[in-house]
Amino acid sequence: MTLQHRLRDVEERLRQACLRSDRQRESVQIIAVTKYVSVATAEEAVRAGVTHVGENRWPDARPKWEALKEHAVFHYIGSLQTNKVKDVIGKFDYVHSLDRESLAEAINARAEKLGIVVPCLIQVNVSGEQSKHGLTPEQTLPFLQGLDKYDRIRPIGLMTMAPYESMAEETRPVFRALKQLKDELNDKAVTKAPLTELSMGMSNDFEVAVEEGATMVRLGTVLVGNEKIGVD
Ligand SMILES: *Cc1c(COP(=O)(O)O)cnc(C)c1O
Repeated sequence: MTLQHRLRDVEERLRQACLRSDRQRESVQIIAVTKYVSVATAEEAVRAGVTHVGENRWPDARPKWEALKEHAVFHYIGSLQTNKVKDVIGKFDYVHSLDRESLAEAINARAEKLGIVVPCLIQVNVSGEQSKHGLTPEQTLPFLQGLDKYDRIRPIGLMTMAPYESMAEETRPVFRALKQLKDELNDKAVTKAPLTELSMGMSNDFEVAVEEGATMVRLGTVLVGNEKIGVD
């Protein structure tokens, strides 16, 4: 399938998921995850109108960022080592993987130096899978309170990864729990401004995530393919 076909297909599935859950299509941002594809394919996606790009490793992201920085909004979606903060902050527009105090401190210091404010999502490990990064739901409130002192970090929402399930439906409780957590945090006014974003849903489960309130879906394989898988 060509990228144009895949994009049309994803758009249709997204539209249907929005219809089912009585949501506006515009309330969901597609992020094209380009970690498995070449610079050329990433450029093709942006030309086709998917102007938000997600990457999870700086060395792989770099050539794409160089090629597309004028044309796309960049989302850092992978676990971020503190010593990579200097590479990523100032280039990526959003960080989806804020999950510890030392990282917050490093991002804040770098952003201060650059004179910018960085919109961040807190990564939450809702499912409790050992292999997944992120705070537990219980740790999220105190963590957000602790972010108050970092005036260069703007918490805008929560991010999670659901466990891979062959039946996408089985991911629903994870997405529902993240939405509930966001609502609770907003009810308690934990952050200065309400959290508005839910980054959840990938190729395998994005329709369920949208039905449960996702505002950002991170789509790799289903949208841009995975031509580089196995190559690395
Ligand atoms: C790779 C990746 C994705 C996209 O994965 P697909 O299943 O190919 O859509 C989304 N989010 C994160 C954090 C990723 O690392």
